[in-house]
Amino acid sequence: MTKDDLAKPDATGLRERHATAFMPNYGVPPVALVRGEGAYVWDEAGTRYLDLIAGIAVSSLGHGHPALVEAVSRQVATLAHTSNLFVNEPEVLLAERLLGLLGAPAKVFLANSGTEANECALKLVLKHGRAGGRGYVVAAENGFHGRTLGALSLTGKASIRDQFGPFPLDVRFVPYGDADALKQAVTGECSGVFLEPTQGEAGVVPPPDGYMAAAREICDATGALLVLDEIQSAIGRTGHWFAHQHDGIVPDVLTLAKGLGGGMPIGACVGFGDAGTLFAKGDHGSTFGGNPVSSAAALAVLGTIDRDGLLAHVRSAGERLAGGVAGLRHPLIAGVRGRGLWLAAVLTAPVAAQVQEAAQRAGFLVNAVQPDAVRLAPPLIVTEDQIDTFLAALPAILSEVAS
Ligand SMILES: *Cc1c(COP(=O)(O)O)cnc(C)c1O
Repeated sequence: MTKDDLAKPDATGLRERHATAFMPNYGVPPVALVRGEGAYVWDEAGTRYLDLIAGIAVSSLGHGHPALVEAVSRQVATLAHTSNLFVNEPEVLLAERLLGLLGAPAKVFLANSGTEANECALKLVLKHGRAGGRGYVVAAENGFHGRTLGALSLTGKASIRDQFGPFPLDVRFVPYGDADALKQAVTGECSGVFLEPTQGEAGVVPPPDGYMAAAREICDATGALLVLDEIQSAIGRTGHWFAHQHDGIVPDVLTLAKGLGGGMPIGACVGFGDAGTLFAKGDHGSTFGGNPVSSAAALAVLGTIDRDGLLAHVRSAGERLAGGVAGLRHPLIAGVRGRGLWLAAVLTAPVAAQVQEAAQRAGFLVNAVQPDAVRLAPPLIVTEDQIDTFLAALPAILSEVAS
């Protein structure tokens, strides 16, 4: 049997059936995907798309990468689950590997998703706060930290947050990128500051130069923990292992998820220095956290990025993509934001949804992350030739929308 035979029999009318069987929280996604290979995916009608969003910056090695397939297949056949009652080798190797990449004394907690990694970070911050009589947390307007109630309470977007509040946490929001506002907001009573090194869901919005260093200084001066949410930005996405390495700072707490497992669900919370030993036995846990299959997948992702020199590739491919989009000088393109293979094409009109649709009709999956911003986050293995096919098609896509 080929992959096609496996995919076909039940893959009909998936979108309609999705609408019937699932809660309406996602609406009905525009395409049903049945398989992928490299940077390409196929829908149920057999149409091929170049995947320029990678399942929201998750499928770092693209689809069906042999290293990922081998690692996951071998591990699922060897030992698929242990729970936290027992140690397994892949989780230990993964934690050691992450610490090696971070290069600073730290300790790891493994979870299953981004929001869970942030819940762990938040509990560390609360514990730090209780010990020091610190009562509130600071986060950024337009920031996104996840959908569970703790992470949601840190999320600075009223439309997804407010209807589920009030929250039991005192979270104070500051405008992202404004170091003076951050300095005003963070006092000796603040337990922690949650920031993305570049805001992802807000539309791949980098802060002004020096902002992250200022955040580090402000936290050092007041004793608040600096929590960097690198759930979207890490694992090579920006051309460094971690986006904060561009800023030359070390956080107190770091959260990871999306690209780490290459498509397998995993999250990680790293506590540096004293923040790594705040939890006592029994303070936190997860049945699936440290799952050996997800850990093996993450090890394959990290190993492949390293072995294949993907960080350098991300930098050059990202420059090609960003330069190519900006260089079109199309009246609908206001500019390009972001770094590496994590970019937003900023539009001169709020037509990102139409651009996403026109791109899809032309065989490219992109994401209307904001009304006026189209997010591009292809697999890290996307080739320059594949980027060029998109750049060649983009003028017609934009003109279709403009007309
Ligand atoms: C996606 C994302 C999250 C939430 O991750 P989930 O796995 O969806 O829970 C949190 N923070 C950032 C910055 C993200 O991009």
